[in-house]
Parts: sequence; structure tokens; C-alpha cells
Amino acid sequence: MFEAPESSPKLRCPTCGAAQVWSDTCRRCRSDLSLLHQALRGVQRLRRACLAALRDGRYDDAVEAARRCCRLDASQANRHLLAMAQFYRGRFAAAVRLAQGR
Ligand SMILES: [Zn+2]
Repeated sequence: MFEAPESSPKLRCPTCGAAQVWSDTCRRCRSDLSLLHQALRGVQRLRRACLAALRDGRYDDAVEAARRCCRLDASQANRHLLAMAQFYRGRFAAAVRLAQGR
């Protein structure tokens, strides 16, 4: 799971495991972390889009944004977001399956 830079100023390099502040390059092994950073920004953008769609009653759009979010990061938080979107869309069985981790 990605941790948002705003909520956690630390990143653990997936190559060497070095903990560091968010950067496009690992301070220890010099791995390029820009794609990881880009993916994180995509997850955050999609989460905001999902929540905005839910607020506006655009439930199909909310589900699509949540699905795309889960493709980038299938964390429990994002699966729960998708479950909530499915619930509001009226797909209760799908919402329950997602909430139960199935
Ligand atoms: Zn590294």
C-alpha cells in the first residue's frame, strides 16, 4: 500500500528498503522512484474523484474511479472505498463481498 506524502512524510524504497522522505530518487541506492511517486499521485487523484462523484450522486463514476484506484493500489482502504461506491450504487452483494475482503 502506498502511503500518502501528506499523511506520512516517509517512503520505504522498494529496492533497498531505505526509509526516506518522498523523493523521485532513493537516497541510498539511487533507484528511480518517480513512477512510484506518479502512481501514488494517481491513487490520490482517483480517491478524490471517487469521493467527489459520491458527493454529487454520480455513483457509476464513483465505482469506476474506485476500480481504477484499486488497480493501482489494491489496499484495504481502496477496496473499502470501492465497497462504499458499490453500496451507494445499489450493488449491495458486491459491496458486502468487497467489505469482507472477498
Ligand atoms: Zn533504495
